[in-house]
Amino acid sequence: MRYSQLLIPTVKEVPAEAEIASHRLMIRAGFIRKLASGTYSYLPLGWRSMRKIIEIVRAEMNAAGAQEIIMPIVQPVELWRQTGRDEVYQEIWGQFTDHHGRENVLAPTAEEVVTALVAGEISSYRQLPLNLYQIQTKFRDEFRPQYGVIRSREFLMKDAYSFDVDAAGLDESYRKMYAAYRRIFARCGLEYVVVEAESGGMGGTDTEEFMVPCGVGDTIVATADGSYAANIDRAEVDPPPKADAGAEPGPPEEVHTPGFGSIEAVCNFLGTEPREMIKTLVYSADGKPAVALVRGDHESNEAKLTRAVGAERLALAEPEMIEKVTGAGVGFAGPMGLAGKVHKLIIDRAVAAMAVGVAGANKTDYHVRNVVPGRDFPLAGENVLLADVRNAVEGDTHGGKPLKFSSGVEVGHVFKLGPKYSKVLGANFLDESGAEKPCLMGCYGIGINRILAMAIETGHDEHGCILPVSIAPFEVIVLILNSDNPAVVAAAERIHDELAAAGVDVLLDDREARAGVKFNDADLIGIPLRVTVGARGLKQGNVEIKRRADAKPTAVPTADAVAETRKVLSQMKERL
Ligand code: ATP
Ligand code: MG
Repeated sequence: MRYSQLLIPTVKEVPAEAEIASHRLMIRAGFIRKLASGTYSYLPLGWRSMRKIIEIVRAEMNAAGAQEIIMPIVQPVELWRQTGRDEVYQEIWGQFTDHHGRENVLAPTAEEVVTALVAGEISSYRQLPLNLYQIQTKFRDEFRPQYGVIRSREFLMKDAYSFDVDAAGLDESYRKMYAAYRRIFARCGLEYVVVEAESGGMGGTDTEEFMVPCGVGDTIVATADGSYAANIDRAEVDPPPKADAGAEPGPPEEVHTPGFGSIEAVCNFLGTEPREMIKTLVYSADGKPAVALVRGDHESNEAKLTRAVGAERLALAEPEMIEKVTGAGVGFAGPMGLAGKVHKLIIDRAVAAMAVGVAGANKTDYHVRNVVPGRDFPLAGENVLLADVRNAVEGDTHGGKPLKFSSGVEVGHVFKLGPKYSKVLGANFLDESGAEKPCLMGCYGIGINRILAMAIETGHDEHGCILPVSIAPFEVIVLILNSDNPAVVAAAERIHDELAAAGVDVLLDDREARAGVKFNDADLIGIPLRVTVGARGLKQGNVEIKRRADAKPTAVPTADAVAETRKVLSQMKERL
């Protein structure tokens, strides 16, 4: 393929909104162009890479026994009402009413559609297990599109859905997808960690995320030896040892804290440390008041709280509910006397381990000193829960091992859903004894665009992309240094043609441009292997071969150029 005939609009300038390297480089290398907030077109090079990723994903999904289908992007809202997920998803919906007044959404995901599809086709255990996947556009009206195609509004997802007769079958389907994901990301040259995740609005049980560490994105919490990794919503921390109070603290003592409702303000006023405070947070759990206690220096985690309470939906309570429960203005809630008034009192283990603390007095403008957990409020009881409901922080341990924090971007997600969708949408089958049962489902997503962006985010230098050979737009670039020299052009064309004939994906830079421009562009677009043909080298009987990641080229006899290039190429491929 000839460079001069391809649209490869490399540029120097990038918009200020491109905060991270992959976003900047995808624009600079002419891979993508923005249409509107969170929507991008892929130009020839970007799309070539995307297609290679798609082929890897497709090959591994097929090898794992999944069958490719394609489902509509436009979905009737009615289906979502049936599973009740309309409430959760409407925040990110692209919604429209058609000419017949029917309400539709642009697919943010496809559990409902695929389950309804399977409900119509499956009736017997003999037809199971089944795993259907598609590689299809998704739309999510992300509130804050970010990092280019990493968090875009329109993106390409591989979404697979498994249907099994029992838990053992689901385990097996999940395991197969997990193994396929490992191969997919390895073949795409990505370093990743698998973290335990939280099932959130999806329902279901086990779920793991494949994260690429890169310094931005979501928090990854892991032990240094990698034996445990979880996202912040899931990361379990060891309870701290019970603090020793020394002498028995005096009785609770009310102090006037006029207008000081925040932890920071109270601490400044009373001269206490946030870690000595008991933060009392009132939540609405499915409409009922639930109170969470966390240490003043800790953050409560709503996903952990939701799970501990066993609620469908949980959110901080409105001031009205807070005032009703505490009898005080917002900012003065405290644990004393609340257990009997709320649906649930959830006490974080770090609070239970405190010897004594300062808390709100449930009286506007007042706090209480000398609050002793277990003495002044219960640590057990019918509606009292002791649980881990806060974010892990530096210094926490898991299984005795210190937890380390890093950031990364989720490229894939595997999920055991169980019968949640099949029950509602009627994806049932008759088992061997003729009994009707719902299929047990799993779902498995991969962000195709994110794979490319993350490969660049973790593979680049100051000159441009350094892409793995498996997903680079081309495997080899043959660079004509002196396009006015017929011998150079002829030699380069011969090398290009022979490589192409051997099945190598090769680009010939035949432009009438300065050598410097060509070198820069070759580096920027990140082709893994460069063959440079120039007048001086040719006279000595040589061309130069250079890996994109190497600093210096190697001179190779012109006659061996093709064989040598193929050899290096196959070495590169072997590593993936
Ligand atoms: P995130 O937490 O990053 O918003 P998610 O957990 O909502 O992602 P899933 O519903 O698990 O995403 O979707 C499956 C895969 O689709 C993700 O692992 C990710 O690779 C990709 N993906 C999700 N949202 C986006 C987006 N806005 N832009 C690009 N890819 C996305
Ligand atoms: Mg996810």
